[in-house]
Amino acid sequence: MHEFGFAQQIADICIASAEKNNAKRVKDIYLEIGEFTLIIDDYLKQCFEMIAQGTPMLAGVKVHITRTPGVVKCQDCAHETQVHVSTDNPLTGINIFACEQCKSPKTVIIKGKEANIKNLKIEM
Ligand SMILES: [Zn+2]
Repeated sequence: MHEFGFAQQIADICIASAEKNNAKRVKDIYLEIGEFTLIIDDYLKQCFEMIAQGTPMLAGVKVHITRTPGVVKCQDCAHETQVHVSTDNPLTGINIFACEQCKSPKTVIIKGKEANIKNLKIEM
């Protein structure tokens, strides 16, 4: 349940922030989620619905998710390649994302593992 723990963390941060601003409730949460986080959008939204049911501060909250692309950097030629995880290229944990320039498999992930709250809309 990767998503549930993550949703709970986000929810806690949003509630704390809303309380600090004396808000009545959180209306919208805008998230930026990296391609390599293994988080499934629909499932994450379901988790939020479950959390929101027991949390007045989050009643009716809408979650907006933007995906940020994954980027790997080649250790041979330093070229940066944008990578998309898909059914053709699933994320298994032992992926090798080859450099698009020199085809070297020696790449390291430099972007796409982050998940951030970009914005919050609250009702006062
Ligand atoms: Zn390369």
